[in-house]
Amino acid sequence: MGEPEGATPPRSLAPSANTAIPAAMIAIIGAGLAGLSAARALAAHGVPVRLFDKGRAPGGRLATRRAEQDGVRLQFDHGAQYLRAEGADFATALAAAGAQPWPDAARRVGVPGMSALPRALAEGLDIVASRHVGRVVGEPGAWRVQHWDAREAKPGAPLPATPPVEDGPFSAVLVTVPAPQVLDLLPGYAAALGGVRYAPCWTVMASFETRLPLPDTLRPDGHAIGWAARDSSKPGRDGGTECWVVQAGPGWTRAHLEDRAETIVAALLGELAALAGAPLPSPRYAAAHRWRYSLLEASLGQPCLWDATQRIGLAGDWCLAGRAEAAWDSGAALAAAVA
Ligand SMILES: Cc1cc2nc3c(=O)[nH]c(=O)nc-3n(C[C@H](O)[C@H](O)[C@H](O)COP(=O)(O)OP(=O)(O)OC[C@H]3O[C@@H](n4cnc5c(N)ncnc54)[C@H](O)[C@@H]3O)c2cc1C
Repeated sequence: MGEPEGATPPRSLAPSANTAIPAAMIAIIGAGLAGLSAARALAAHGVPVRLFDKGRAPGGRLATRRAEQDGVRLQFDHGAQYLRAEGADFATALAAAGAQPWPDAARRVGVPGMSALPRALAEGLDIVASRHVGRVVGEPGAWRVQHWDAREAKPGAPLPATPPVEDGPFSAVLVTVPAPQVLDLLPGYAAALGGVRYAPCWTVMASFETRLPLPDTLRPDGHAIGWAARDSSKPGRDGGTECWVVQAGPGWTRAHLEDRAETIVAALLGELAALAGAPLPSPRYAAAHRWRYSLLEASLGQPCLWDATQRIGLAGDWCLAGRAEAAWDSGAALAAAVA
């Protein structure tokens, strides 16, 4: 396997990087696929952009969790499982980022982990990582972005009492975070975004010392589990680690949304054992992650929102559909509207 992803800090500026901002520079809040797509398209038009993300690395829900247990390195794509490209733009981007087919020719994954894709797509971009943007202040054409250490600030919670770092002025601000989190920054969009709805998703990551008697992928009907996969069967992974990703369906997740992670691990591994038709061996590693915003149940129904007077734009998968390609297309549509 290659170098562990996430070990190398992204091309991030120091937090107090409020220097040398070109007059036309645009701030992009969120460096998931939508933000990266918008940034790349604007940069290709010669427009300077700076991205801000609360994550340690770009990618958002295209994520890879890494762990080490008893000297064994483990990894799990705990967000998006595989990507399909229906359009030429996304297909080209995936190919350029080194995506490979799995589990069939029509679907693609990042190698050696899903997070390798956004890392490649972010190459050369100006990204301020690990910073939670809590406020956008100023006026059209001269917006300033206030951000805090992402370890101190949490979505939906009051902003920390510590003073923020302020970056700007920016000629425009593009917000590419999930719709409910847009409202923390821009509450004026509550009516426009009111119809957007995400399903939550409890996800269990588990590794076993012996191979489970299951196929590499499962999508059972009418089951607590919506999707389960032998993550270690993806290309470029260590096939001997028997790493599994088990995602609960939206109904089950909602019914257990506030359960403790340990309860979720036990329950979903019990459901996986039922699918295997045999008790599972004790996992050498198991953890649960709760995605509050996973796949979309209701979208905005238009590619993006761009207010040319305010010079504020919005993009994300929630504009179009709950798929990575929709996020990419939405970011590109916003860049086209701005440029
Ligand atoms: C469990 C799960 C499984 C999925 N499976 C698939 C699949 O198999 N195939 C598929 O095509 N799609 C799948 N998806 C959906 C896919 O991951 C998304 O559609 C896509 O990644 C969304 O990209 P985005 O840029 O719109 O949003 P995100 O990836 O959510 O990016 C938003 C970014 O904004 C950042 N951010 C948020 N708030 C702030 C703030 N205040 N300050 C700074 N930064 C902020 C976040 O850190 C994040 O990086 C799955 C998603 C989940 C969660």
